[in-house]
Amino acid sequence: MLAAVAWEAGKPLSIEEVEVAPPQAHEVRLKILFTSLCHTDVYFWEAKGQTPLFPRIFGHEAGGIVESVGPGVTDFQPGDQVLPVFTGECGDCSHCKSEESNMCDLLRINTDRGVMLTDGKSRFSIKGKPVYHFVGTSTFSEYTVCHVGSVAKINPAAPLDKVCILSCGVSTGLGAALNVAKPKKGHSVAVFGLGAVGLAAAEGARLSGASRIIGVDLNPIRFNEAKRFGVTEFVNPKDHKKPVQEVIAEMTGGGVDRSIECTGNVQAMISAFECVHDGWGVAVLVGVPNKDDVFKTHPMNLLNERTLKGTFFGNYKPRTDLPGVVEKYMNKELEVEKFITHSVPFTEINKAFDYMLRGEGLRCIIRMGN
Ligand code: NAD
Ligand code: ZN
Repeated sequence: MLAAVAWEAGKPLSIEEVEVAPPQAHEVRLKILFTSLCHTDVYFWEAKGQTPLFPRIFGHEAGGIVESVGPGVTDFQPGDQVLPVFTGECGDCSHCKSEESNMCDLLRINTDRGVMLTDGKSRFSIKGKPVYHFVGTSTFSEYTVCHVGSVAKINPAAPLDKVCILSCGVSTGLGAALNVAKPKKGHSVAVFGLGAVGLAAAEGARLSGASRIIGVDLNPIRFNEAKRFGVTEFVNPKDHKKPVQEVIAEMTGGGVDRSIECTGNVQAMISAFECVHDGWGVAVLVGVPNKDDVFKTHPMNLLNERTLKGTFFGNYKPRTDLPGVVEKYMNKELEVEKFITHSVPFTEINKAFDYMLRGEGLRCIIRMGN
């Protein structure tokens, strides 16, 4: 079976014959049909501010069908249409039982583990040598093995070439707005970073009735795209001498009601926090920082009644809530097509990396079988 293997940090992936072992207890083997590239894959492939772990099969935004199930697996059958998710839901821990958390004790995102939980081994090998997994999904492969808690069964009629992007970026941004920032009707919302995650957050803000959505990005190309997502105003920090939080405070009479950071840049995270209004403003961090980043702000910014939050996967519980996000698409409450700007066959997967590195477009769908 073919997989796109990252042998070294920052080097083009190479499509190789890889053996994919059968699923063990509590595991399923998936046939991936469509996958896409999220910036988190790129950070760990570049491994600049992250732990390097190679050779590795990246990929976590994808859709496929169950090919086979491991011993004791009763809730999946071959042929089920599924989305693998980078953060799981065991269903039994205190987080899974809490209404408020999606940070499962067993299966929450772990970017440094490259093996399966069941036995601490990889299911991928090339000529007997193991290849590491990534966030329990490794979807840049025709077949992959996942823990059942990291796989959501979805409507069999949903088109996987579209809804695959709901398995990470779009649900993350949407949930960061709807479930965490929770803007009210008439609110002003700043969105830092206008990639797919940020524009999904803008979409969530729009659905919540926000009246002003201020998009912040260093890449002016993003502003054209963002107009299609209800972003009403744009700020490029490079156009101003003052820190962007001061620019936003001036634009809004003291600060925005909500801000959502989707860049992964720690300075942008600080600005996103400091640009919310004192007394009630809420900032939500979504971007994945570098390993050594430190968030620095004066404690008075918090004492003055600003709230700082963070979220993985928009606070959605992957198995419980993701099927419902797919239904939003099926019911036409949520548009997914506008996030898809490119599509390439699996053999050209490196082009998807080029687009993201150039800041061109939003999501690139990688077609596995064709
Ligand atoms: P992307 O590269 O498509 O978009 C990021 C955007 O941020 C780009 O347009 C870039 O120009 C802009 N940007 C970068 N630095 C900036 C700065 N200092 N100020 C303003 N804008 C800046 O990436 P994406 O796939 O949309 O992902 C966005 C972020 O969300 C990444 O950090 C990714 O790792 C993270 N992410 C987090 C979760 C989660 O669950 N928390 C899930 C998915 C992605
Ligand atoms: Zn992602």
